[in-house]
Amino acid sequence: MQISSFVAPQRVLMGPGPSDVPQRILDALARPTIGHLDPRFIELMDEIKALLKYAFQTENALTLPVSAPGSAGMEACFANLLEPGDKAVVAVNGVFGKRMIENVQRCGATAVAVDQPWGEPVDPAAVEQVLAAHPDAKVLAFVHAETSTGALSDAETLCALAKRHNCLSIVDTVTSLGGVPLYVDRWKADAVYSGTQKCLSCTPGLSPVTFSDAAVAAIKARKTPVQSWFLDMNLILGYWGQGGKRAYHHTAPVNALYGLHEALVALKEEGLENAWLRHASMHQALAAGLEALGMRFVVKAGARLPQLNSVYIPEGVDDAQARAFLLSKYNLEIGAGLGDFAGKVWRIGLMGHSARRENIELLINALADAFAEQGKTVDAQAALAAVAGSL
Ligand code: PLP
Repeated sequence: MQISSFVAPQRVLMGPGPSDVPQRILDALARPTIGHLDPRFIELMDEIKALLKYAFQTENALTLPVSAPGSAGMEACFANLLEPGDKAVVAVNGVFGKRMIENVQRCGATAVAVDQPWGEPVDPAAVEQVLAAHPDAKVLAFVHAETSTGALSDAETLCALAKRHNCLSIVDTVTSLGGVPLYVDRWKADAVYSGTQKCLSCTPGLSPVTFSDAAVAAIKARKTPVQSWFLDMNLILGYWGQGGKRAYHHTAPVNALYGLHEALVALKEEGLENAWLRHASMHQALAAGLEALGMRFVVKAGARLPQLNSVYIPEGVDDAQARAFLLSKYNLEIGAGLGDFAGKVWRIGLMGHSARRENIELLINALADAFAEQGKTVDAQAALAAVAGSL
């Protein structure tokens, strides 16, 4: 076997992430590697923290990117806030809520699940009932934007519930950051984590996190050390903390951080509100086109994530065959259903740089072609007219 350099195909990414990465970010990643304690690199780190505060809409001093993907941000929040014997209430309305339960249990804490139907937002009334029944709970955790179903939950109300019941909130914003309104300070969210490969349109592998003063106080008041050395915020702060005196903790992913910096500069240039509006208007256009093709949404209107559109696979269309057709003929990736939705649902992403009119038109044409290949005729021109009509 002859192995030589890997040449990646040029895909259009309209799945649940990663999303299309703009050339300016790819260019940033290719800049010369410098030392992770180089004074110029320290300046870059300070700028990343400032830009992340803007993206999260927070003044939290403890705001930084964890050097690993979104799941590590999740683990950092649970591992730092929970100690053995603690109790956490977790709303579960999809795959990532389930993953939160595992995190709680692996911290030696007790998880109380509030199970919700898949495809629906978390019901605050159901959460309130469970919080009232467990006054000893320390944490309320939930997923703002459930990527496995496409449902958007009311984070503001859920964070307020947490405060009313003396709980710290842990909020998953992996798919929401940069795509829909998120106000960490205004909503008084306590421990919030995200990912770089969704609406920030950066490469995968970093997890922005932010901790409120209340969350920091809880970390400082721990009786036991954080069981993960790598994710212990007390230690990470020695490297990411303010000022010139930084100590080695781990070797930062230098070039990946160039990429994140560039992605955040792009977000700042566009403006956060404009980015939210772009996602919303592209979603409306996509929905008009998909519905004109006869497709139905899983999530009811009003609770849909603009950046993650779950639709039922039309009857008579083979899931794997259609997705393979899109990839091989159009270089176009859409997402399969996860968990309970496997084989029944497609997840169509409009995240970050992928949320563009040309992508939507490509997808509508390609889907019509994929259906035709399986003997199902739809009117692509009418669907494209519906897209145009909604813009
Ligand atoms: N949480 C949500 C809502 C996600 O969508 C994902 C990834 O898709 C994760 C957590 C985990 O992130 P990662 O795959 O970057 O570890």
